[in-house]
Amino acid sequence: MEHQLYIHNSLTRKKELFQPINPPFVGIYVCGPTVYSDVHLGNCRTMISFDVMYRYLLFLGYKVRYVRNITDVGHLLDDGEDRILKATRLEQLEPMEVVQKYTNGFHNIMREFNTLPPSIEPRATQHILEQIEMVETIIKNGYGYEVNGSVYFDTVKFANEKNVYGQLSGRVIEKLHTETRDLKNQSEKKHPSDFAIWMKASPEHIMRWKSPWSEGFPGWHLECSVMSTKYLGTHFDIHGGGTDLKFPHHENEIAQNYGACNCAPSRYWIHTNMLELEGKKMSKSDGNTISPAELFSGNSPFINKGFSPIVVRFFMLQTHYRSTNDISNDALLAAEKGYRRLMEANRVLQHLSHDGTLAITDEEEQVKRLMDHVLEDMNDDFNTPKAISRLFVLSNKINSFQSGQIALNSIAPETLETLKKFFHSFIFDVLGLKEDTVGPTGTDTKVLDGLMELVLGMRQKVRTDKDWATSDKIRDSLAALNIVVKDDKEGSTWSVKN
Ligand SMILES: [Zn+2]
Repeated sequence: MEHQLYIHNSLTRKKELFQPINPPFVGIYVCGPTVYSDVHLGNCRTMISFDVMYRYLLFLGYKVRYVRNITDVGHLLDDGEDRILKATRLEQLEPMEVVQKYTNGFHNIMREFNTLPPSIEPRATQHILEQIEMVETIIKNGYGYEVNGSVYFDTVKFANEKNVYGQLSGRVIEKLHTETRDLKNQSEKKHPSDFAIWMKASPEHIMRWKSPWSEGFPGWHLECSVMSTKYLGTHFDIHGGGTDLKFPHHENEIAQNYGACNCAPSRYWIHTNMLELEGKKMSKSDGNTISPAELFSGNSPFINKGFSPIVVRFFMLQTHYRSTNDISNDALLAAEKGYRRLMEANRVLQHLSHDGTLAITDEEEQVKRLMDHVLEDMNDDFNTPKAISRLFVLSNKINSFQSGQIALNSIAPETLETLKKFFHSFIFDVLGLKEDTVGPTGTDTKVLDGLMELVLGMRQKVRTDKDWATSDKIRDSLAALNIVVKDDKEGSTWSVKN
């Protein structure tokens, strides 16, 4: 493959040339959700970012195995309660009912955002035997020890023998001693930074399995080490997740993999940054939060109207995955405009027909160069915002071709065909956009757009005639249909209220 894809590797903190271990095969593991509540928008951003990387690798011709797990046991809250069991208690459901309910919800949202399903979606509870085996291997290799039926990973021994602990998160072992969150089992551990890879279940803990050490359950970090290596091998290409997972989750995964098979799990680590709301960290307790459902319906004090999932997806792709992404009403409105511009440019482009004559100018070079630049941007650590800005420049060209401002025969017929294929494939296959034909009210948006243009045009006429009564009547009738019309100096705009 001729491309030169560079990926920012969180482990080395450098952009590195992407060289798969066994080309054309590529293995990616991304930490999936813990299914105990509705999926957070921040988590959606992570999944959408990896979806574009997955799609781009496929676009480049790789055969990609994309593994994204479902965590359904062992991910504990700070007070030591299992997240799934907490939901079980609060919602009066069986643990696997909780898991299924929120897995379904997660899948629905992922479908709305037009993300491709992973190649394999393993669940932690389906891999208990393999988890027990890995714990046994870690003990055998001298990095695990049992106390009262629980098994801990010996971080200090590991850090002393292998110089990798703390490399990903940039923490030093002495500091780790004071940063541990697992207060409950402090007395059983040799060092505060040690972490449980198998936990003995307390009597009230209903998710439990037999093991050589106790009836209990696996540690959250261990699950990912087991599921990634089971499906991708002990050393695979890319491991990803949100940046909040770097420590302790990913740092401990690396330690476990060394402890079990003496090698690093993946060659490249990719971490996506956080989502913010109006410049502040999202936080439920501060009320500074918005859910995917609220975003789609407009039922939130932070936005004036609902936005379709595909517009939200486009909005997220206009920020690089390693930068924080700041949600606001204005930014979403701008993204909606931009999204419509791209879709419209594509419709115009696909209908352009070349008359076969040639008067080639430097437009030919410019169009070709813009297409190259889009790929160069993607090869520069998946720089979607930059690639999208090139697509806007291409959109302007397309519109000029249509209006005749630039003669269509200033580019060759083959170049027009290449541009048609490229533009279509890039916006739909790589960015994962789609024609948002169904509007928030269930109507065809193209029809609605056309009708509203007609109605507002007629209303403008009565306003020019100073027939305010008819103008207001039209506005009120539209309001009854949940269509809000706003008048200002530049004219009238409309939006659908959900
Ligand atoms: Zn994980």
